[in-house]
Amino acid sequence: MIELLIEEKCVECNQCVKVCPVNVFESREDQTPRIARQSECQTCYMCELYCPVNALYVAPYAEEHVEISPQEIEEKALIGSYRRSVGWEKGQKSTASDDQFYKFYLK
Ligand code: SF4
Ligand code: SF4
Repeated sequence: MIELLIEEKCVECNQCVKVCPVNVFESREDQTPRIARQSECQTCYMCELYCPVNALYVAPYAEEHVEISPQEIEEKALIGSYRRSVGWEKGQKSTASDDQFYKFYLK
């Protein structure tokens, strides 16, 4: 579930507002977007992937809210961890072609 939008890092590009499939964010004029409908979050990570400055943190628990501070996610290197794991950080290559899961369905 989306847990944090770190306002100090946000550059107000509104990418998160545009990519969220269930309209969790609310854009605000000359301000950072607001997490307006947290309980609607589907834990799809699209907002975290598309945020250009790693200002968002989506926790891997889809059904429960967890309390976590910006300091904690920085200290635990959680910020941007999903982007790194799928190879979306600068200088990385996508890891999609490494996924061999489709072989389970081959006969
Ligand atoms: S994780 Fe997906 S559903 Fe949740 S806020 Fe981000 S884009 Fe929206
Ligand atoms: S995508 Fe990131 S930088 Fe852009 S508005 Fe959302 S939180 Fe801010």
